[in-house]
Amino acid sequence: MPFLMTIPFIEKYALTLEPYQKIKADLGLTTDEFYALTKTLASEIEVARKVRQLYQRKGFKKISLLDFYNWWTNQEKVCNYCGINEQQLSILFDKLKEFNKRPTRGKTLELDRRISNKEYDDIDNLVLCCYICNNAKSDFFNHEQFIPVGQSIKLVWTKILNPE
Ligand SMILES: [Zn+2]
Repeated sequence: MPFLMTIPFIEKYALTLEPYQKIKADLGLTTDEFYALTKTLASEIEVARKVRQLYQRKGFKKISLLDFYNWWTNQEKVCNYCGINEQQLSILFDKLKEFNKRPTRGKTLELDRRISNKEYDDIDNLVLCCYICNNAKSDFFNHEQFIPVGQSIKLVWTKILNPE
């Protein structure tokens, strides 16, 4: 399957949710090719679904779902404040679970607004952020104020992930 096919496929299949028949017709796919793509692109499809849910939950209006998806896929997948990536976050959550209350939010990166009282629609105001930093920053600190806090959070998780 040509690589160029993957992006329109993900868009139609997981973002704009077009009917399967239409996707097959538009992209010239046989039924077998269609289902093969859903398997090959399973992890990209999962990401696109997550982005779609986030887009709906945050009530974006001024930017399109596709623009938001493009923004998301172009972001480096680390917390903007403490630098943790999703794999490290997942290990950290598993370690903390042994002696803490089970966290109610996910191990995946979340959206943070640099300036909290601006709309989510302003894409320049958005950064990716881990649950821990997002929770600590809340709506109280702005981006600049929280940067040193993020550095301290990094010291804590680095120690937990790399015990001496
Ligand atoms: Zn963080």
